Amino acid sequence: MKTGHIFDIKEFSVNDGPGIRTTVFLRGCPLRCVWCHNPEGLEPGRGVLIRQRGCLQCGRCRIPCNHSDCQGLERCLHACPMGLVEELGRVWDAESLAKRLLRDADLFESSGGGVTLSGGEPLLQHEFVFELLGLLPVHKAVETCGYTSADVFLKMMEMVDLVMLDIKLADPGAHRRYTGVDNTPILENLRRLKASGKPHLIRVPLIPDITDTPENLSAIAALVGDSPVELLPYNRMAGAKYPSVGKQFTHLISKQENNPIDTAMFQNATLRRDAHS
Ligand code: SF4
Ligand code: SF4
Repeated sequence: MKTGHIFDIKEFSVNDGPGIRTTVFLRGCPLRCVWCHNPEGLEPGRGVLIRQRGCLQCGRCRIPCNHSDCQGLERCLHACPMGLVEELGRVWDAESLAKRLLRDADLFESSGGGVTLSGGEPLLQHEFVFELLGLLPVHKAVETCGYTSADVFLKMMEMVDLVMLDIKLADPGAHRRYTGVDNTPILENLRRLKASGKPHLIRVPLIPDITDTPENLSAIAALVGDSPVELLPYNRMAGAKYPSVGKQFTHLISKQENNPIDTAMFQNATLRRDAHS
């Protein structure tokens, strides 16, 4: 039985595919987008989240302890008098997680919903993901950045009902600069997805003056052709969670509002009202 590291399970989700869904957030991502709004999902494995508001600076969470679930975390999960310390990346085995998710199978069926795997990047834990998908006889969707091998991407497509693929920047140099990786594997997987006939949705985060420029959006429009596209407004709260996972939100977004978006440049695009979350 494969195990995976999960940092959140969100029930009654309505923005991660059709119907009412449960979204599972898996830890670890190969990208480092400067605007990332999910810093608690970036690192693989287990970690801690320490909410900053209300911290007494008493240091109790730093005192070494013998709790079995705290070992390897460099923090005690149980000592905080304010309850500010949480585990990130709890270990689940595929069968236990499938059972937990299928508690809502009736709701999924009646609403046309299902389960969505998100992250971080869920395909970073692909062996666990494939085992889990095989245990879920409900509608299944994956939200992916597409940065994975052809073999993993093709197998994932076979096992799900809907693929939601993020396309951020068309220019290879800009992609490397703002996400830390080359976009060649992502664009190759986009071509595989379009050729497959698998139901899909291309999602484009609109980051002011980075991804929301007319040049980038028209280049993405040319790449995606007639695929359905969802344009996601910038999440102005993106930096809020960084201190709680010991990271700094270093990128200064030049402004907080998106440039005017001309959806007509796409064949089939909708502009979401709420921010990327
Ligand atoms: S134990 Fe809680 S209140 Fe004390 S330093 Fe740690 S997080 Fe802050
Ligand atoms: S792909 Fe998503 S989770 Fe990964 S760094 Fe970019 S925004 Fe964050």
